[in-house]
Amino acid sequence: MKRNRRPMKQKKKSLCVFWLICFLCLAVGIGGYGLYRHVETARNQREDEALRAGMNQPGIAKGWNWKAKTVSVPRQQLFKGELILVNAQHAYHFPAQETVVSVYENKNTAYKVSNTSIRLLPKTIERLNQMLQAFEAKTGIHEVMVTSGYRSQEKQQAVLDEKAEKQGITEARRWAASPGYSEHHTGFAVDFGIYTDSGRSLAYTGAGDYAFLNRTAYRYGFIVRYAQEKSDITGIDDEPWHFRYVGVPHAYIMRQKNLCLEEYIDYVRAFSPTNRLRIQDDENFAYEIYFVSAQNEESTAVQVPVALPYRISGNNVDGFIVTVELGKSKTAS
Ligand SMILES: [Zn+2]
Repeated sequence: MKRNRRPMKQKKKSLCVFWLICFLCLAVGIGGYGLYRHVETARNQREDEALRAGMNQPGIAKGWNWKAKTVSVPRQQLFKGELILVNAQHAYHFPAQETVVSVYENKNTAYKVSNTSIRLLPKTIERLNQMLQAFEAKTGIHEVMVTSGYRSQEKQQAVLDEKAEKQGITEARRWAASPGYSEHHTGFAVDFGIYTDSGRSLAYTGAGDYAFLNRTAYRYGFIVRYAQEKSDITGIDDEPWHFRYVGVPHAYIMRQKNLCLEEYIDYVRAFSPTNRLRIQDDENFAYEIYFVSAQNEESTAVQVPVALPYRISGNNVDGFIVTVELGKSKTAS
């Protein structure tokens, strides 16, 4: 009996040791992962701050130093352009004819597309091609996959229904906008996934090697639209895979000042044709930006330069944002 009890005790003891080792491994694993995440987040924050500190600051360019003329902008233009704000408060105004084109037919080889039916605006694809080509040249990675682009009203309803079926409507609404209120209607928004060369589909989290892409997308006019820290303003949870084209230099300023699109639309309202915002991009190309309120009539008188290239985008709320291209200059700012 005595001899039998002893091995039993030993068995119990070794079982205890086994579980203790398991527990320690788990604790070290969780702790290690937590530490890794903490270190990565801290490194990302440091790199973010360094990036912002190295970027040109926007400044004021008061008064006219280029010859101006006035153009008449139709009210319909309020709902068009790269800076339109589409969110739960501001519906997208669908035009009679969409101008989105196939990503599959217009992409380069630096990335993949999950479906040949995915479409985006030509400008979005052109800049996407440049951004992902530069990313591939730097990292050798060509596993980014476009998983979603333009969505019609019906398509957005289908996306919401599919999510609601899996997760319930409350959870689905945290991730997918109501039809008519999705940024994917604009043709300026694109979602990324990862598809490895060995055939594995992964979620795009913007971490690791991909952090560089999320951090430098502004150079190509893209913003990572939904960040956790801005979710109380945007109404959408963290989506590191959702990129929105807003154009240079706007993406640049949003990045430099850490503004989401809602905040940027507010920020730009402070500038007028006689109190313009001036900014230089990384290549010392200078721009000026100002806001003109939409008048209630059919059209709005907007001051623009006579001899410089410019773009006018509606903000989909209450006015127009003019972007003037001053050109490459060392004395511009
Ligand atoms: Zn998206």
